[in-house]
Formats: sequence, C-alpha cells, structure tokens
Amino acid sequence: MILNQEEARVALDNKPAGKLKRALKRFRAARSPEKLGYPELVLLSALRKEGCPICHSVSGSDREYFFRFFYESHRETQVLEELTSSLGFCRSHAHYLIGRDNGRSQLATVHKILARHLRKSLLDYRSGNSRKDGLARSSGSSDRCPACRAHDEAAERAAFFLANLIEDPRTEERYAEVGMLCLPHLRLIAPRLGNVTLERLLIIHEACMASTLSALEEVDVVEPLHSDSVYASALHLAVGHDRGLGGFAPLVGGDQISPTGDPVGRLVRNISRTDACPICLEIGRAWLGWIAWLDMAAQRSENIEDVLPTCPDHVWAILPFARLSLARCAAEKALEVALTRVRFCIKKFQEKPPPPDFKRPVQALMTTVRGGNPFIRVGRDTLARDFHCPLCNLLNTLRDRTLVLLVRLLEQRNQRARFEAGYGLCLKHFVRAFAFEFDSSVGEFLCQVQAAKLGVLEWELAEYSRKSAWQARPEPKGAEFSAHLRALRRFSGCLKPDSTGPGDRDI
Ligand SMILES: [Zn+2]
Ligand SMILES: [Zn+2]
Ligand SMILES: [Zn+2]
Ligand SMILES: [Zn+2]
Repeated sequence: MILNQEEARVALDNKPAGKLKRALKRFRAARSPEKLGYPELVLLSALRKEGCPICHSVSGSDREYFFRFFYESHRETQVLEELTSSLGFCRSHAHYLIGRDNGRSQLATVHKILARHLRKSLLDYRSGNSRKDGLARSSGSSDRCPACRAHDEAAERAAFFLANLIEDPRTEERYAEVGMLCLPHLRLIAPRLGNVTLERLLIIHEACMASTLSALEEVDVVEPLHSDSVYASALHLAVGHDRGLGGFAPLVGGDQISPTGDPVGRLVRNISRTDACPICLEIGRAWLGWIAWLDMAAQRSENIEDVLPTCPDHVWAILPFARLSLARCAAEKALEVALTRVRFCIKKFQEKPPPPDFKRPVQALMTTVRGGNPFIRVGRDTLARDFHCPLCNLLNTLRDRTLVLLVRLLEQRNQRARFEAGYGLCLKHFVRAFAFEFDSSVGEFLCQVQAAKLGVLEWELAEYSRKSAWQARPEPKGAEFSAHLRALRRFSGCLKPDSTGPGDRDI
C-alpha cells in the first residue's frame, strides 16, 4: 500500500514515538524562558541563606550516596571496581560510617569481596605475576574514594547551574544578597564565568572578606564558636562549610603524646601493637601533638601564622580540639590567605593589556591567537592554584619518613616477627610503602603479612554473613559481628573506635 505524504505523517504521529515527540514539544513550549528548573530553584533558595549556596546544596550528598549504596548499588560491578581501585572508602568516609547502625551487612558483603580480590592480587604478586594487578603495580597511590567522587560531581553540577544563574541578567542580582560562595567553590565556578562577571564577583568577595576580617579582629576573644558567630562567617567565606566528616579522632587506646620521644623506639613499640596500623598511630600522635602545641602557643599569643593550616579539612578538624584563641587565629589566618589571593586576582583583572610588541612578532601573534588580556589569564591561573597547607605538608612528610623507617626495620629478622604478630599496615599505607625503593624480600614479606590479615578478615566477614541468615539464628553471635568495622579501619586507616568498645582486636 502506498501512502501519500499527509497519510504517512498521520500514521507516524499515531505511533508511540510520535506521541512522545509531540508531548515533549508541548512540554518545551509550555516551559517559558522565565521558568526555572529544580536545580536552579534549589540554588536560588540556597542563596537566600547565610553561607555558600554550593556547600548548602551538596550538604546531603554523603547521606544520599550511602542511601543509594546500601539499598541499590553496593553489588554493582562498577561500584565494586571503583572501591577496588580506591582500596575501599577514605578515612573521612570510614569515620562517617563507623558508629552508624545502618548498612552493616552491606558493608560486610562489599568488604568481603574487596578482601578476596586484593588477597588474590597479593598472592599473584608473590608468585611473580605483579603486572597483572593494580595493587602491586607499586604506584604508591590509590584512586579517589567513590563517595568523595560523588560529592565532587554534585558540586560540579551545582557549579554549572549556579554559573548560569549568575550570568543570567534576570537572576544575577540575587547573588550575594544574603548567601555567597566560599573560596573553594568560587574557584570551582570561575572557569564557567566570563571575565566581567568573575571580576564583579571577586570585587564583591573582597569587600565582604575585608569587612569580616575587621569584625573578627574587633570581636571579643571570649565569644564562643557557634554557627552564627563571626568565626563561622569567616570560615564559610574562606574554606567553606564543615562537612561534618571528622576523620581525626583521638587515638585508639587513649594513646600518649610523647613530646620527647625517639621515633625509632616508638615505631618499634607500635609495630607489635595489635589494634592499629603503626603509621596511622604515628600520624595521629603527630596530629594531636601539633594541635596541643598550636593551642598553647595561641594562648601565649606567640606568632604561629606560618604554621596554621589552610586547607578546609584541617581548618575544620582542629576546631574541636582548639580553645577560643586558637579558633580565632585559625579563622583569621584562613581568611587572610583567601583575601590575599582574591586581591591579587582583582589586581590582575584590572591591569591594562600591554600593547603588541612588534619587535617580537611571534609573541604578538600568539597573544592575538589566544585572545584576551594576558594579565587576566594570570589572575585566573592564580585563583585556580591550590593553597599550601603547612599541616598537610607536615603529615605527608611524616607518613613517608615513617614508612621509609619501617621498611628499613623490616630488613631485620626479629622486627619482621614482631610486625607479623602485630596489626600490620592499613591498606592505604601498605600501598604507599610501594612508592619507595626497598629490598624485594621486604616487598614479598609485606604482601605475605597483608594477605594473611586479609584472609582472616575475609573469613570473619563471611562468618558474619552466614550467621546473619535466618537458619543460623540459634548460633551465638561473636566478635565477627563487628568485622565490618575492622574492615573499614583496615581499608581506610581510620582510628575511630566504635561506640561499643575499643577499636580493634587482633585479627
Ligand atoms: Zn562552598
Ligand atoms: Zn571519601
Ligand atoms: Zn595506616
Ligand atoms: Zn591541610
């Protein structure tokens, strides 16, 4: 049967695809340009609150990620692959999960799969098959934790929609009426903004940061740190909101800050401890010692400006341990660093472009091809650059120095026996150890110990799953019912004890 053109169109329109097409057309026609979508409405509502709109809009991302993870995705191949390349969750997310009651069996199942896979990789390494697996590639690093990646992606999406709102003449005035971005999120959104808009935002931020800094200098030192205080406003502008993940708990077993201390003797003692990784213990000790020193120095009004942290994680993490004088110093320092950066960028944005230098035709041509003012490019590059955090530097250096010392100690037979009887290393520090040169027998020994620890952990996790089944209900529940917490600690290096008792037992 041959149809004419009109008949063919009617026939096509009656098919389901044609109906959908017409419905979409009607929907698009009904959505006038003045109407905004859900993400834009969420951001406009966040702009009506104090603080950073992106921090507000991603504040539930961890909760959402773990809801999806526990009830939908924890057995998906892609999720398991991501967790294998990141060697489980990071310390902050393990800290978030330990102490929560939900997701026990899902965490046990996932870590059982991870432990089995990694143990197999380690056995491959020992049998000389090191090229096959990611772990023994000795890169010394692991991928970013999937929960952290989900948070970053949520922030990226919010930045995309917020940039459109700020560039849109109908909504641009809403920015900074009440809420305004923190500096980390201003840096995130900057590549999506035109030069004129970015310069306008930088000027707004400079004025707000300068007035908050003067308010902070004038404030009475006895004012407590609460969400409406000037400290909180300063920190929101400089480093963003506290994600509440923590990650730096006091040491397990109430460990001792030994200010004098012989690092070799301390490590020799710690490698035989059965409750935590010796590198994590050393970092935890240094962290607490550093905060105690900063607190004392701030009380005595010493100049500690160049040793205060500047990264968001460390700035927020010191506050629970700090007295008011240190909280004030930390907020002032974070805001001053941010303000200096913003002022420098404004200066670069306002510099006049140099006239073309015809004695250097190639350079003049390149400037024309790239377009724009080269000073603005410098300003944008400076804004995008990460901040130097003295505490990050200190802790990373300490981690690497302690790992080097550990592998030297493991060249001695008696230290190997003590290490084997102890906790061994958390997975994060185990992989990091492979960034350094050492004797191949040390590498094999580390793999052998880690494989044995993972083997026991895998058995405990499997026992947990078995005893959780309905048929096993008459069997008494034992220590394997906290195996998922031990797994979180072993994979992440988190030292947080669970609420029911001390950290780990010998596994
Ligand atoms: Zn923010
Ligand atoms: Zn994470
Ligand atoms: Zn560790
Ligand atoms: Zn830091």
